[in-house]
Amino acid sequence: MKDNNCGYCVGGEPLAKFGIKICDLTVSQLILFKEQSHKGRCIVAYKDHVSEIVDISDEERNAFFADVNRAAKAIHKAFNPDKVNYGAYGDTGCHLHMHLCPKYKDEFEWGGVFEMNPQKVFLTDEEYAEMIEKIKANL
Ligand SMILES: [Zn+2]
Repeated sequence: MKDNNCGYCVGGEPLAKFGIKICDLTVSQLILFKEQSHKGRCIVAYKDHVSEIVDISDEERNAFFADVNRAAKAIHKAFNPDKVNYGAYGDTGCHLHMHLCPKYKDEFEWGGVFEMNPQKVFLTDEEYAEMIEKIKANL
C-alpha cells in the first residue's frame, strides 16, 4: 500500500518539501515539520497509505495512537510546551497522519487553531539536526 506521489510513502523530494524524517516508530514514522512557527512541531505518519482512521484494525489504531503518545511525550520533555495541539486532516493527501503542534502561552496562535503551514519560520540544517537530536533523546 504505497503511493509513488506521497511524501510519507516515498520519502525523498516529496517529503523534503515539508519535513525531515526523524525515525521509525512501531507502526509509523516520526517527521519533523520544517515550518517551525511552533517549536518542536512534528508529524506522526502511519506506515501505510490509508486515508482514514476507520480503515485500520483496532490493534493497528491502538499502536498508532501509542506512537502519537510517545512522540508527544518526547515533545513535552524536549521543549516544555504549555499544550500540544493535534490535527488530522489530509483532504488531499489521503495518507493517515497526525500533526503534533506544540503551543506556548502568549506566543504565535496561542488560544486558536494552528495554521497548516504559516511559511514563517524555517531553520538551518544544523538547527534542524539539533532539534531532531533533542527529540530522539527524549523518545
Ligand atoms: Zn502515502
